[in-house]
Amino acid sequence: MARWERFHFNPRPSQQELEAIASVVEVDADSLTQMLPPAGVGMQHEPIRLCGACYGENPCHRIEWQYKSVWKCVSEAPPMEARHLLKLLAKCPNCETPFKMPALWEDGCCHRCRMLFAEMAKQQKS
Ligand SMILES: [Zn+2]
Ligand SMILES: [Zn+2]
Repeated sequence: MARWERFHFNPRPSQQELEAIASVVEVDADSLTQMLPPAGVGMQHEPIRLCGACYGENPCHRIEWQYKSVWKCVSEAPPMEARHLLKLLAKCPNCETPFKMPALWEDGCCHRCRMLFAEMAKQQKS
């Protein structure tokens, strides 16, 4: 559960991080600040999002996929440079089943149609 607990204690992004996110989502850092909810609730738990390309490189859920206003793949540690710039998936592109919570991602594939998460990268739009 450690990964999920981090959602609650994750500090609000720094100005530098905000600017990095802003460059990815093509808004300025100030408007991004306004889009962010109060400190501590900048994440959302649902829907669970996934970058199949990241997952193929390193099979684990990444916290930054859940940043509320970011729907593209960016790296977690500052500076938050863009990674694949792929649009994150919120459901299986094959059968449209929403992802389970990452603690249950034992097989690294859709629990319904068994499509591998890494394979889903091909379905992600850039
Ligand atoms: Zn990625
Ligand atoms: Zn599926």
